[in-house]
Amino acid sequence: MKPPAEHLEEQPISGDASPAPTEVVALAAEPAFLEAAYRSIGEGLTALDVSGRVVHLNLGAEGLLGWRQEDLIGRRLHDVVHHFHPDGSDYPAENCPLLAVIGNGRNTVGDETFIRSDGYTVPITFSSAPIVIEGTVVGSVITFRDVGVERAARASVEEADQLRLESRRLAELDRIKSEFLNLVAHELRSPLAVARGYASMLADGTFGPLHATDASTAVPIINAKLTEMNALVDQMLETARLEAGHLHLSKTTVSLRAIVDDALRTMAPLARNHRLVSGAGPPDDMVYGDPNRVLTIMTNLIENACKYSPPETDVEVRIWREAGWVGASVEDRGWGIAPQHLNKIFSKFGRVVTPDNSHILGSGLGLYLCRDLARMHGGDLTVRSEVGRGSVFSLRLPAHDDPLG
Ligand code: ADP
Repeated sequence: MKPPAEHLEEQPISGDASPAPTEVVALAAEPAFLEAAYRSIGEGLTALDVSGRVVHLNLGAEGLLGWRQEDLIGRRLHDVVHHFHPDGSDYPAENCPLLAVIGNGRNTVGDETFIRSDGYTVPITFSSAPIVIEGTVVGSVITFRDVGVERAARASVEEADQLRLESRRLAELDRIKSEFLNLVAHELRSPLAVARGYASMLADGTFGPLHATDASTAVPIINAKLTEMNALVDQMLETARLEAGHLHLSKTTVSLRAIVDDALRTMAPLARNHRLVSGAGPPDDMVYGDPNRVLTIMTNLIENACKYSPPETDVEVRIWREAGWVGASVEDRGWGIAPQHLNKIFSKFGRVVTPDNSHILGSGLGLYLCRDLARMHGGDLTVRSEVGRGSVFSLRLPAHDDPLG
């Protein structure tokens, strides 16, 4: 094929060692050179005859389709690489946009899916143009490339953007929840303290004996419920302090046994439906910690053990000592926690609601706070659990036998 004359005239005329225009023209007319050039195009390229049969397949197309040129020459391209849709349904040749160009003579671009020789499919984008000789369409040439990687990359960028947005939204929600928690807790504290004061004075007879039977039943209940509310408000305030980085420990050397006994005493009236059991423990159970915060952890664990196990079952508290640690475990015979939820229960507001425990109310703050308090002490709070058998929550604190050491 000769280049048009005007194209020749545009060639720069140079006196250096580059080939003379006539040599370039000779090269361009060399079928082997053109063949090699078509073969080497990076994109897939195939030329079809007027029936859609493969006349030529370049190296890019061979790589992409897994077929070699000699395998496809003379076969209708559509029948080999394009005969079904990605969902497996038939793709009739009459609907094939790659072949349509031969009939209508119009350039077409689009996205399709090709079937490789190994049966896998590749998403491609193509451009198909008619080959016209002396005004007659004698075939078509199709260039195409694999867009699977591009699409996957685009999809993961979009997904990452989506995740970033989502995590920003969640962080904002988390901040609003914390602020709300702080506000509510502060607002509730004073009226609650007044109501609790009066309720306990009524209960202990400061205002005189309670004569009516109903009143003497009701007042202790009111008192217990206000104590429960007070504990919740304290929990909310501690969480708000923790989040703001304002939670400071007042550490001293203290016996873990003494704190556990304190927690058992506090919990006894609320745990009437369970048997609280506690063994002797090691003689040496001194820890260096904030007694109030360790008490918070222990009462929370005992309260949870009672809340999440059926009445009349044992809740066993055991104190242990092991290689530099002193710990307390609270074991129940309750409904247990499925392994996939064990992390969730330590997250803020993390609750696992099951048919067994759906009637039990809670904030989901207790374990979140307790684990952080344990870690602030240099210790940890862990759990072992089996659905239907029960759970063991273990607090571990660094042993501290010698207050001066
Ligand atoms: P709350 O009890 O107020 O919901 P917690 O943070 O104390 O919050 O506990 C988080 C969740 O962990 C509970 O909602 C419950 O699903 C689960 N959980 C805690 N302790 C136990 C336990 N002893 N047995 C079974 N599930 C428990």
